[in-house]
Amino acid sequence: MDLKAHIRGIPDFPKPGILFYDISTLLRHGPAWNEAVRRMADIVAAKKPDVLAGIESRGFLLAAPIAHALGIGFIMLRKPRKLPGAVLGLSYALEYGEDRIEMQADAVEKGSRVVILDDLLATGGTLGAGINLLQQAGADVVGAVTLIELTFLGGRSRIHAPFESLLSYD
Ligand code: IMP
Repeated sequence: MDLKAHIRGIPDFPKPGILFYDISTLLRHGPAWNEAVRRMADIVAAKKPDVLAGIESRGFLLAAPIAHALGIGFIMLRKPRKLPGAVLGLSYALEYGEDRIEMQADAVEKGSRVVILDDLLATGGTLGAGINLLQQAGADVVGAVTLIELTFLGGRSRIHAPFESLLSYD
């Protein structure tokens, strides 16, 4: 199945000059979404993770069904001030300004094999920060997987873990 046929590019979102790859149309289409999740689950399973990590919010849409299919758990990497209890956080640079992700301090067992998931790799700032945060928490990040990679932005150079994407745009 041609999964790209179910992803649309929306010009000038969230600001002028940006072409936004919208996966809402893929999510809405049962067979296409099922195939996308199954194909990503195969990539993830080959890395033999103990646990998955998903980046809020579209990373959750992948991490939850894939963790369920593999019979393992998943950790939420969230925007600031969303998680209760002790948290670890990491701030990272955006094109203009800064963002931050957090996880619960006790979420990862030291040395456990973690695969991190997000919907899309653009500049690599978000996924790179997620990997660094998991590593600081003691995880062995054995893989990073996204549904989409925008290869023309060169985000892979910021990903210090074995990286794979299901679909790429150049
Ligand atoms: P990066 O940090 O520049 O790699 O941006 C990736 C993050 O921004 C991911 O969490 C994506 O959900 C989001 N993102 C950036 N561009 C797009 C897009 O075109 N479509 C959907 N999400 C995007």
